[in-house]
Amino acid sequence: MRGKGLIRKDLPEKWAPLVERLARQKYHFVGRHTVVKKCHWTHMAMMEGRHCYKCKFYGIESHRDIQMSPSAFWCWNACMHCWRIRPQDVGVELDETRLPFYDDPKELVDGLIREHRRLMSGYKGMPGIDPKMVEEALNPAHVTMSLTGEPTLYPLLGDLIKEIHKRGMTTFVVTRGVRPDVLANLEEEPSQLYVSLEAWDKKSYDYFTRPLVPRAWELTLETLGLLPSFTNPTAIRITLIKGFNDTEEALRGFARLIDLARPTYVEIKSYMWLGTSRQRLSKEDQAPFDYLKKVSMKLSELTGYPLIGESMVSRVTLLSSIPEPIRLGKGCPEGLKMQEKVGPGEYDLELFP
Ligand code: SF4
Repeated sequence: MRGKGLIRKDLPEKWAPLVERLARQKYHFVGRHTVVKKCHWTHMAMMEGRHCYKCKFYGIESHRDIQMSPSAFWCWNACMHCWRIRPQDVGVELDETRLPFYDDPKELVDGLIREHRRLMSGYKGMPGIDPKMVEEALNPAHVTMSLTGEPTLYPLLGDLIKEIHKRGMTTFVVTRGVRPDVLANLEEEPSQLYVSLEAWDKKSYDYFTRPLVPRAWELTLETLGLLPSFTNPTAIRITLIKGFNDTEEALRGFARLIDLARPTYVEIKSYMWLGTSRQRLSKEDQAPFDYLKKVSMKLSELTGYPLIGESMVSRVTLLSSIPEPIRLGKGCPEGLKMQEKVGPGEYDLELFP
């Protein structure tokens, strides 16, 4: 039965509890190991013409952005702030560290576009929805690999990136940085490469990012050392967990890592009390925007990266090594000067009561 993912004959029967849980959370399977989910901001773009911060910073139009992962259940970490369902959360035995099989990139991209169109076709003819937005939404322009799991565990990641670019779409790849071997051998770079960081040294890494494989911290350092060799924009995304990585010691640690990686950008984004992370962290671990900005200013001082952008609604700030971010889409033409409309319940912590 297409799209429901409940009864997928081509998936191991023993995965059913996991597939059913993801289907209930509105994840849609494309092939055997890839999932797509309509982002909150894709819906807001259609309903209210409001986009996520990536539109303001980089021109990424949220209604034309496919949020996906080619590694639905697989990751080399079990981070405390992670929202994903792990196999053991639903009693499924599965080696999370290696995909048992992998689908053809061309078929995957066909499936991603088809699934995005299916999700967006629901807006056709809806009262108050601009038909031009629907037309645009049916022609996706961006693919973001950040939904769940570790995308570099998909062995054909390089071919997938190439295939997506061939279809005229951009790629944002968000990795934990545990596979420098894969990143170093990509035939084509993603349009923008993100390395996610919450820890600043081996001790904080092993405690918070909880690796499932040996040498994960050392591999992450190797990846950070690779970033200066990339020609497309790179970014370090720091998820700020109040009371954990907002200390002087942590910020000085991040400054050393940023000096090693010399990314184009540093994004500092508040932890969000979401999904299974609620079993491990509390609402108070989220950083209110004003506090996040104060910490960002401190890191800007320590790194020499000016703070050039912010989004209160998405609770994120942008430090940059270049005066203006590189626009990778045609959305939000006013760019960093764009005034955000704050929707009901979107100021600071009201979002997750
Ligand atoms: S690397 Fe990402 S998907 Fe994996 S556990 Fe950490 S936050 Fe979750």
